[in-house]
Amino acid sequence: MREGSVEAPTRHPIDWKSDDFWNRDSLNDELARVYDVCHGCRRCVSLCDSFPTLFDLIDESETLEVDGVDVADYDKVVDQCYMCDLCYLTKCPYVPPHEFNVDFPHLMLRAKAQNFKERGAKTRDKILTSTDALMGGVATIPLVDITANALNKNKTFRKALESTMAIAADAPLPEIHRNTLIKRAKALVKDIAATPVGNTTGKLALYATCYGNYSSPDIGEDFIKVFQHNDVHIDVIPKEKCCGMPKLELGDLDSVQALKEANIPLLASLVDQGYDLTAPIPSCVLMYKQELPLLFPDDADVQKVKAAFYDPFEYLWMRHKGEALKLEFAESLGNIAYQVACHQRVQNIGLKTRDILNLIEDTTVVAHERCSGHDGTYAVKKETRDKSVKIARPTVRKVNDQKPDHFISDCPMAGEHIAHLADGVDSAQHPMTLLRLAYGLS
Ligand code: SF4
Ligand code: SF4
Repeated sequence: MREGSVEAPTRHPIDWKSDDFWNRDSLNDELARVYDVCHGCRRCVSLCDSFPTLFDLIDESETLEVDGVDVADYDKVVDQCYMCDLCYLTKCPYVPPHEFNVDFPHLMLRAKAQNFKERGAKTRDKILTSTDALMGGVATIPLVDITANALNKNKTFRKALESTMAIAADAPLPEIHRNTLIKRAKALVKDIAATPVGNTTGKLALYATCYGNYSSPDIGEDFIKVFQHNDVHIDVIPKEKCCGMPKLELGDLDSVQALKEANIPLLASLVDQGYDLTAPIPSCVLMYKQELPLLFPDDADVQKVKAAFYDPFEYLWMRHKGEALKLEFAESLGNIAYQVACHQRVQNIGLKTRDILNLIEDTTVVAHERCSGHDGTYAVKKETRDKSVKIARPTVRKVNDQKPDHFISDCPMAGEHIAHLADGVDSAQHPMTLLRLAYGLS
């Protein structure tokens, strides 16, 4: 048997429609098998709290092996996984086609799915993962958005929220805007003739995402300005549901399927009309590029959407390779600290955000490829808040040491988490916001 694989990783579809996927004994056998491979390897110990939890369980057992760990404790490892996917893509030498066939994140997903089906989830977790219903509901009621945003900054209210709902009082919560990106887009979209370059059609539909639509609509405006400046026809998709990533991380696969059925027909019809697709949040891009295609491998429309979905800076880079990106900039950006979001790293596209920003004169981007530990909910839940801060610490230290002019992350939640903890920066910016600034686009 070979030690480690030198071949490109392949990802097997998630067999969640089979009876075996839902069989507890079969799951426990597979957890024991994979935990044993991890015990002999231990490369992932610094990635998250799942692996230290596993290794502590083994090291504190009587046998010092996985067979000494109580099966009832297997979930302690599962509960610390927030599906960042880093262990699969950046560390593991035993992923398929290696015969050990380790897919740690999707094994965690299987365990989460069984747990969700058998026990459901806490009310808090159901609310936190119902992002479009939660934010969309608040955003339709006059003044409630202002009240909610004020309450989220009110220490007394946050303490009460922590004791009643176990939402960490010191975790920043996303703002909610009634003037959403989808509403703003109507006045901004222009009829630009699409020019294909390389594999890009030059006709782009922006999937706003829950965060981009309700919490930070300014980022979507930056997208529109930058792509229009580069002669790309860009529309904002007028109606959408959550991509389903929060529900996936909860193990609620029926809700993932319901959201897929709401979104995919519209996205597939846009692809039929010649649109490429993108989104401002890497997790949502990854959902369409990887997770839905692996959950629904026989769904032709899911595969069609996958083929047309791009990370925004991957898209700009493809246009740049075809000499279609404008390289005249009004402003340089100086020294930039860049936290590379896990769900962008695992798209395996390289550091295209850094590469685009490095095209700007007198601009240096230093990439910090460490997890922020945010995950959308992990940094917000009271019981995991401290662990998320610990996971963020190496990046926080590097950002503080760098003393940058700007701090960016493609994931606004990860960026805000780091900025909140770092002394050296006041806030995080989306890289598209900086690109707009560099172009001098009002
Ligand atoms: S997917 Fe991420 S959070 Fe889960 S075990 Fe792997 S590295 Fe840890
Ligand atoms: S997931 Fe892979 S790399 Fe990580 S500890 Fe387990 S076997 Fe080692």
